[in-house]
Amino acid sequence: MLIDNHNRVINYLRLAVTDRCNLRCNYCMPEEGIDFAKRKDLFSMEELCRLSSIMVSQGINKIRLTGGEPFVRKDLMVLFRHLASLEGLDDISVTTNATLIGPYINELKSLGIKNINVSLDAINKDVFERITRRNQYETVYENLIKLISEGFNVRINCIALEGQNIEEIIPLVELTKYYNVSVRFLEEMPFNGGSKSFNTIKWDYKAIYEHIAKRFDAIEKLVSEKTSTSINYKIKDYKGTFGLIPSFSRTFCGSCNRLRISATGDVITCLYGKPRMNIRTLLRSENSEEKIKQHILATIGSRSKTGFEEQEKYKGVFNNSMTSIGG
Ligand code: SAM
Ligand code: SF4
Repeated sequence: MLIDNHNRVINYLRLAVTDRCNLRCNYCMPEEGIDFAKRKDLFSMEELCRLSSIMVSQGINKIRLTGGEPFVRKDLMVLFRHLASLEGLDDISVTTNATLIGPYINELKSLGIKNINVSLDAINKDVFERITRRNQYETVYENLIKLISEGFNVRINCIALEGQNIEEIIPLVELTKYYNVSVRFLEEMPFNGGSKSFNTIKWDYKAIYEHIAKRFDAIEKLVSEKTSTSINYKIKDYKGTFGLIPSFSRTFCGSCNRLRISATGDVITCLYGKPRMNIRTLLRSENSEEKIKQHILATIGSRSKTGFEEQEKYKGVFNNSMTSIGG
C-alpha cells in the first residue's frame, strides 16, 4: 500500500496516455504554437501496460486514463484490455472529450468499463465550438447520449468560464432532469499553456452554487465519499445529480488520494506543483520494476500537505498546460 508523509493512502492513479489532442479548448491550450512532446518521449503501449501493472502491484486500485485526448491513441483499447485483466484494479475510468470514443463504446462496455467522464462546457453548439475551436459538436453530443443510454456511469465536466459559458450552467443542470448523469462544474485553473494568467476567479464553487440555487428550489445535498473532489447535489425528482469541484479553491487537499503520471513519465504528486521525478527513463533501464517502486515510495513520502503549500515551493507552475498534466 502507498501511504504518503501525511498518512494519506494513495490508491488512485491518473495516467496520461498522450499529450496530443484533436480539440483546442481555449482554457487548456493556446490555439497554436503548442510544444507537444517528441514521439520518442511518450510512453509506448507496451510501457503503459507494464507501468500500470507495476503501479497496481504497489497498491493502486483505481486508474483513470486521461491526456491530451486519450482516444487519439489508436492503440488505446490494448491498454483498456490489459487494465481489465489486472487483479486488484477495481476501478478503470477515462476522461475524454467524446469526439473519438464512438467506435469503442461496445468494447468498453464488454470489458466492464463503467465510469466515463465527458468534458462538455456547453450545450449550445456555437458556444461549444467557440470554446473548443473545432466543429465537433454533433459527434460529441451523439456519443454522449449513446454512452448514457448504454448504461455507463457518465459524469459531465464543465468549467465555469467567465464571459464564455455561464449561461450554459442552468441548461446543463436541466440535463439531469431527463438523464441519469452527474454534471460537475469545475473552477477554472490557470493551466492553459501560458495563454492567460490570473490569481483570482469570479466563478468559484460558491458563486456557481448561488447561481444554480437562484433557479432551483428543491436542492438536496448528497453524502459524498471522503476522497471525492466534488460536493454533490440533486434536484428533487430529477434523475441525475450535479456537483461542484473547487479545483481553484482547493478545499479537498486534506483527503487527496491521487498520483499523476504524465504521458512523458513525469510523476506529479500535486496539480499545483512541478514533477518530482521522471519514470520513463527508469522504465527503459535494467531492473526497472524495482527502481520504479523505490522512486515512487520516495516521491510519495515527500508530498506537500495542500496545493497552496506546493504552489509556494514551485513558482511558475501556472505556465503548464492541462494537456500535459491530464487534469
Ligand atoms: N481531453 C480529455 C478531456 O478534455 O476530457 C482529457 C484531458 S483534459 C486535460 C482533462 C480535464 O481537464 C478536462 O475535464 C478539462 O476540462 C480539464 N481542464 C483542462 N484545462 C483546465 C483548466 N485550465 N482549468 C480547469 N480544468 C481544466
Ligand atoms: Fe483537448 Fe481535453 Fe484540453 Fe480540451 S481539455 S484541449 S479536449 S486535452
